Amino acid sequence: MEARLPAVHRLLAHPRLQTAREKLGPESLRQLVREVLQDLRRQGRRHASLEDVLYSVEARVAELARPSYPAVINATGVLIHTNLGRAPLLPQQVSGYVALEFSLAEGCRGERLAPVREKLCRYFGCEDALVVTNNAAALLLLLAARARGRQVLVSRGELIEIGGSFRLPEIMAEAGVELVEVGCTNRTHLADYRRALSPQTAAILQVHRSNFALTGFVATPTPQELASLARETGVSFWVDQGSGCHLDLTRFGLAKEATVQELLTAGAEVVLFSGDKLLAGPQAGILVGKRQTLEPLRQHPLRRAVRPDKGVLVGLAATLDAYLAGQPERVPLYQLLAEPLVRLRQRALRLRRTLQAAGIPAQVVPCHAVLGGGTTPGEVLPSYALALPDDPARSRALRQGEPPVIGRQERGQLLLDLRAVFPEQDKLLAAAVVRAFR
Ligand SMILES: *Cc1c(COP(=O)(O)O)cnc(C)c1O
Repeated sequence: MEARLPAVHRLLAHPRLQTAREKLGPESLRQLVREVLQDLRRQGRRHASLEDVLYSVEARVAELARPSYPAVINATGVLIHTNLGRAPLLPQQVSGYVALEFSLAEGCRGERLAPVREKLCRYFGCEDALVVTNNAAALLLLLAARARGRQVLVSRGELIEIGGSFRLPEIMAEAGVELVEVGCTNRTHLADYRRALSPQTAAILQVHRSNFALTGFVATPTPQELASLARETGVSFWVDQGSGCHLDLTRFGLAKEATVQELLTAGAEVVLFSGDKLLAGPQAGILVGKRQTLEPLRQHPLRRAVRPDKGVLVGLAATLDAYLAGQPERVPLYQLLAEPLVRLRQRALRLRRTLQAAGIPAQVVPCHAVLGGGTTPGEVLPSYALALPDDPARSRALRQGEPPVIGRQERGQLLLDLRAVFPEQDKLLAAAVVRAFR
């Protein structure tokens, strides 16, 4: 008798699929079985044993059972890694109900943003603050509420693209704002801004270059100069800081740049930035500055479309509490930045001993990590890594292990950079490497 593809009902009734049926539900399992059979037909298979088909179904069930967004060990050496969710989050998780828009004192409706606004104002020393879903939304809202139908001046050296989808000129067009390019790519002078001002000008916008650096024959007016030009001519001065910084990064060996607080002191009406880049918290767009500038944003219809979720607000409040307490190292990213180089070396040596005892030829090498996320381009953080033979099959096994470990290829080796690995993950990392290389 000619063997054919097993019938759907026979597969579904098979005891081996009992647990899968309970986990997925009968309808999803039926669909999945049909898909497996369809794939076989598409491959031109006319017959397959019941065993073979069951095996394929089970493999697909296992794939579906994997967590959708698994926690990973970041051994890439990129601290703010966009593909790995930017900043590592505090363990705070929201579950159940929270008093999100409810005043416990009055027993009536409260204001969703009030608690984080108060913390932001205290930390940044400003009158007002607003939180939206991300920095791109913050800029869109600011432009739409304050400059629609008018002009905004931006230096040609600051017309940035971020991550392929945030392009400053396109955001401005989307907000209904006319972009007026000022100066040259490498040099923009105060006089260029002055010449470009017109009765249609709403604001001067300074944009953090974020993911690239201009060096050589370059010039940009200071924020103080731009603020006083704006004041003198009656236009606004805003700074899109994106990544930037809020505390002095020189103590971690990174270059000095203006902080949000310094930009506000310099006279910026509003500074906007990313919650997950600059603050190392959850994804959010934050605007801090003058009440008069921010109030119209609160009334704007777009605002509802970019309202942050409760989980974000809870995480943001916890992050701000650490900064307000003067303890940035309570925030996971700063914990990673603050880890002394000698400690990284000790940890690497200890891991090497464990791995070599398991017969894995691991070496300890000094290397360079980066802050990442389009911040501090060209700057590096000293670090140590375990160097392993670069073998695509084993790298894949590491990535697909539990927990997944993501390293980086460099100089023909697989480096597991410890700068973004938390010390308490070392044991898990060693065990994952042993499993993948055995
Ligand atoms: C990253 C960045 C943005 C976009 O921020 P998201 O929070 O990713 O939307 C905008 N402007 C600048 C200057 C940035 O660095």
